[in-house]
Amino acid sequence: MSKILIIEDEANIARFIELELKHEGNEVDKALDGRTGLDMALAGGYDLILLDVMLPVLNGLEVLRRIRLESEVPVIMLTARDAVMDKVSGLDAGADDYITKPFAIEELLARIRVALKKRVAPTVQSNKLQIGNVVLDEDRHEVTVNGENVELSNREFELLHTLMKNKNIVMDRDKLMNMVCGYDYMGETNIIDVYIRYLRTKIDDKFGIKLITTVRGVGYIIKED
Ligand code: CA
Repeated sequence: MSKILIIEDEANIARFIELELKHEGNEVDKALDGRTGLDMALAGGYDLILLDVMLPVLNGLEVLRRIRLESEVPVIMLTARDAVMDKVSGLDAGADDYITKPFAIEELLARIRVALKKRVAPTVQSNKLQIGNVVLDEDRHEVTVNGENVELSNREFELLHTLMKNKNIVMDRDKLMNMVCGYDYMGETNIIDVYIRYLRTKIDDKFGIKLITTVRGVGYIIKED
């Protein structure tokens, strides 16, 4: 069971998230403005904080900055659709993740699980991600399959890294594009599909495995049973 704080001024959204989180067995508190939320967050005891950006009294980014002066508690920002600046500022200010409204509750729950897991198992682990026989070494910037080295470009590596880090979560194209190409990328919108094709040629096809799954109309996922 985790103790989660929701700082969100839209009462019906806050209530909806609260019910879902309680249903999953978590303890949940709510704050409807930034100032109250900040005070509650700093009083401590939370395993995770969900923080809306547009808040009365004190906005979400300011709340986050002040939390980060004192605490490393995982924070997931709730941002408005297409508010790219919010996402960038949020991540810069130390948010662990963000989710765009409106969101599917399953995605939010999945992101919360990831953020909580990071907190439970920090630092001690080596910086390697493994799915089946595919191993990605963050420190050495290296990917191997069955122990055999796979040559990847920087963006292919970043894309694979993002998918492996978020395994079992569907990553939509926009999010992948932001993470792999940067927020200011203005080029082809199908660039992610192109890199996915390269990755499949170099990994799936070459080694006869099914690593990356397409979720039609949404994006991509790497699943681990
Ligand atoms: Ca709001």
